[in-house]
Amino acid sequence: MAELSPILKQATPVLAERGEGVYLYGEDGRRYLDFTAGIGVTSTGHCHPRVVEAVREQAGKLIHGQYTTVMHRPLLTLSERLSEVLPEGLDSLFYVNSGSEAVEAALRLTRHATGRPNVVVFHGSFHGRTIGAATMTTSATKFRAGFAPLMGGVVVSPFPTAFRYGWSEEEATRFALRELDYTLQTLTSPAETAAFFVEPVLGEGGYVPANSAFMRGLRERADRHGILLVVDEVQTGFGRTGRFWGHDHFDVGSDVLITAKGLASGFPLSAIAASRDLMAKAWPGSQGGTYGGNAVACAAALATLDVVQSEGLVENAATQGARLREGLAKVAADVSAIGDVRGLGLMLGNEFVDKDGNPDPAAAARVQQAASAAGLLLLTCGAAGNVVRMIPPLVVNADQIDEGLGLWREAV
Ligand code: PLP
Repeated sequence: MAELSPILKQATPVLAERGEGVYLYGEDGRRYLDFTAGIGVTSTGHCHPRVVEAVREQAGKLIHGQYTTVMHRPLLTLSERLSEVLPEGLDSLFYVNSGSEAVEAALRLTRHATGRPNVVVFHGSFHGRTIGAATMTTSATKFRAGFAPLMGGVVVSPFPTAFRYGWSEEEATRFALRELDYTLQTLTSPAETAAFFVEPVLGEGGYVPANSAFMRGLRERADRHGILLVVDEVQTGFGRTGRFWGHDHFDVGSDVLITAKGLASGFPLSAIAASRDLMAKAWPGSQGGTYGGNAVACAAALATLDVVQSEGLVENAATQGARLREGLAKVAADVSAIGDVRGLGLMLGNEFVDKDGNPDPAAAARVQQAASAAGLLLLTCGAAGNVVRMIPPLVVNADQIDEGLGLWREAV
C-alpha cells in the first residue's frame, strides 16, 4: 500500500468517522467539539440535512457539466441567488474550485483589465499556495521558502497590526497608510499598480481585523489612482464575521470580491464577483478550469445559502461570537500568557506571548494539544504559530459555546 505523505500523517490527529452539526465523531468512538470547521468551511455544521439532501438529489441528476459545452440550472440559480447578497455593483460571477484558484483568477482579471503589472498585498497576508497566490502570501516564510523563483509584480505594504507594536489602532493605521503612500512612490507607482488585495481580517496571518479608517484609506487611494480594490473574503465571507461579508464592517465598496470556504459547506467551489464591465475584460480561455462551477458543488452552495438565510446564521455568528469573545477575554484576564484576544464574529484568535511579550508558539501548541485531548479541536495561526484560533460552525449555540469555553479554560 502507498504510504501517506508525511504532511498528511502529521495533519490527521483525529480519524473522523462522521460529523453532525458542531461535533465530529472519531473511529475511536470519541466525540469532539469542532471549533475549526475544516478551517472555516463547514459553516452550516457537518452534514447539514438540507445540504446532504440537495447534494443527493443533484448527484442523481447531473454531476458534471463543463460550462464550455453544458450549462446547468444549479450554476444559474446560484448566480441569481448570490447576486441578492453580493455588494452593489458586483453583478458578474465566475467560478473555480478553491480559494487559491479564485485569487489567481482575480489576479489575472485585475492585470488584464488595467494593463498594469503590479499588485500590492499587506504584511501578514495569506492568499493561497499556488505560485501566484504564494507570492502574494506574506504570513509566514514556510509558505514561500524553497519555491523560488516566485512570480514577479507583488509588492508588500504594512497592515495595521496594533498589538505587535503596542500601538493604538489609530497609530497602527496611520503608520500603515503612510507606508502605503511611500510604497506607491518607491516599490511600485500608481501607474504600474493594478490592485490592492486585502483580507478584511488577516486569517492565517493571526486573526487581525482591518478597521474602517484603514479600509477607507485603501478605497480613497484606489479611486484616486485607478487601482482596483480586491477583498479576499475566502475566510471572512458568508457570515463568518457576523456580517455577510467581512468588509461590510467597514462600509467601503470593493471592485472584486473573492469567496470560497463557507460558500458550499465543504464542496470545492469558489468564485470571484466583479462588475459586468470589469468582468468583460477577461476573455474565454483566459480564465477557467475543468471542474469550476461543478453542478453538485453549486447545489451544495445553494442549499448552504438557504440555510445561512433561513436559520439566521449571520446574526448567530454575531451573537455567539460576542459570547465566545467575552468568555475568552475572561480566561485571558486570568492568564498572562494570553496577550490579546481579537477578531470579528466567530473568527477569534488568542495570542500567546512569553513574559517579555514575545510570541510563544510552544505555549500555543501545548494548549491546542491539551484542548484536543480534552475533546475540543482548535487550530493555530500567525507567523510564529502563536495564535490559537476559534472558528466554530456558524450553527453553534450558546450551550456549545459554553462547553467550548469550559474545555478551553481547562486546557489553558
Ligand atoms: N485566501 C484566504 C484569505 C485564505 O484564508 C485561504 C485559505 O486559507 C486562501 C485564500 C486559499 O484557499 P484554498 O486553501 O482553498 O486554496
